[in-house]
Amino acid sequence: MNLLTRRHLATLRGTLLDRMHVLQDEVRAGGHAIRNGIDGQEARDFKDDADRHAHDAVGAMEVQRDIDELREVQAALYRLETGGYGHCIDCGDAIAYERLRVQPAAERCTECQMAFEGRPVEASG
Ligand SMILES: [Zn+2]
Repeated sequence: MNLLTRRHLATLRGTLLDRMHVLQDEVRAGGHAIRNGIDGQEARDFKDDADRHAHDAVGAMEVQRDIDELREVQAALYRLETGGYGHCIDCGDAIAYERLRVQPAAERCTECQMAFEGRPVEASG
């Protein structure tokens, strides 16, 4: 069996909370930058609106990525509170602690994640 101990869960919860705070700051800062046309200094250098729009689009994509990850982190914290954390949402197996330590918001075990992403599962033994 591969059940997570209380100590494992506490460690992962701390990692998730740290990550959530970093992401919240980034999303806040990113949204602020987009509203104000990046930062003041850079904005003055834009020659025309086309440049400005291109730059805004990149910033918006980065913020969107942060928002997506933030949702995953918050979902993981919710699962931690309500139970079900650390179990694959596809096959129900326990997700290895080694995997969760690297990716605490992981919803699937390695095999199901690879299948989900359409990659061939490597035979491992
Ligand atoms: Zn699975």
